[in-house]
Amino acid sequence: MTSPKSMSGPIRIALTVDDLFQWKGVPELNGYPYQTIARRLTDAFRSHGVRGVYAFSNTAPVDDDRALSQVFDGWTEAGHHIGNHTHNHASLNWVAPRNYIADIEKTEALIARWSDAAPTRYFRHCFDMWGDTAAKRDEVLAWLGRAGYAVAPISLWFYDAQFSRPYTRAIIAGDETAKAWLRQACVDTALKQLSVQHAAARLIFGRDPVHIWLIHGTPIAADCIGAILDGFAARGVEFVSLEEAMADPMNNQQPLVTARFRNQIQKWAEVKGVPIEDCPPAILADLDNVCPLPGMNYEDLAEAILGAAAKAVGGVANMADLHP
Ligand SMILES: [Zn+2]
Repeated sequence: MTSPKSMSGPIRIALTVDDLFQWKGVPELNGYPYQTIARRLTDAFRSHGVRGVYAFSNTAPVDDDRALSQVFDGWTEAGHHIGNHTHNHASLNWVAPRNYIADIEKTEALIARWSDAAPTRYFRHCFDMWGDTAAKRDEVLAWLGRAGYAVAPISLWFYDAQFSRPYTRAIIAGDETAKAWLRQACVDTALKQLSVQHAAARLIFGRDPVHIWLIHGTPIAADCIGAILDGFAARGVEFVSLEEAMADPMNNQQPLVTARFRNQIQKWAEVKGVPIEDCPPAILADLDNVCPLPGMNYEDLAEAILGAAAKAVGGVANMADLHP
């Protein structure tokens, strides 16, 4: 395994969180209301002295439960910020630019109370997908620019959303052995992906770029964030602001137009012909076998929920785009 310790200094990372509400149609789990998940994330940030973490959340679940917006109160009261991530969480690949923009505006009306207080007006694309054609990408980017948004990509991820589904099954089944295995696998994968993706970034740029790291607002994130951040700190990670990470040339330009599910380092790696070891990680193939429950594998659920999201924005989901 490549040493994650930087040769020229600490690895610098801006933490970001996506989807404090899971996608519309994913029920809250007993013991894991959204408010609790958000608080456990902010508690972990506080214990590492991290403030100013941007959360990018779809807002469609608020239509059915206005009280959910209290999650944003708790987030900002803990010293963190809210950005825009569209209302329905459809990929730009799947919908017309004007519909996608209208979906951003819908969220804007719902989150202005919190997002206006953030130092920067950030938008993040759903699935970090910037559009499957340059024309589409540029039309939305031009609108975002006129509306005063900076667009925050994800440079480094560890596929935590893929761990969330088996963890949900294990909670429902009360399978403590599976839960413990998944927590350990989730933490190990977070540390390993930090290592391999940072190693690739260093090869590509010949220096240590500043990363934008992602975790989602899920039960497994709530249960693992403390151990993950402890692991990062033990490896010499320094937590920085999103504004600092966005100033890095790795993050403030798009190297590639692609329909595929690729973060910023993966896009650069593809353009530069640099392989990333075990990324996407092989362990993802095992996750549907953990605690199987009928109708509750990742693909089935994602298809139903994201199909509805795309339809709400006037498009059709193409699940192949989401393949790791
Ligand atoms: Zn998202």
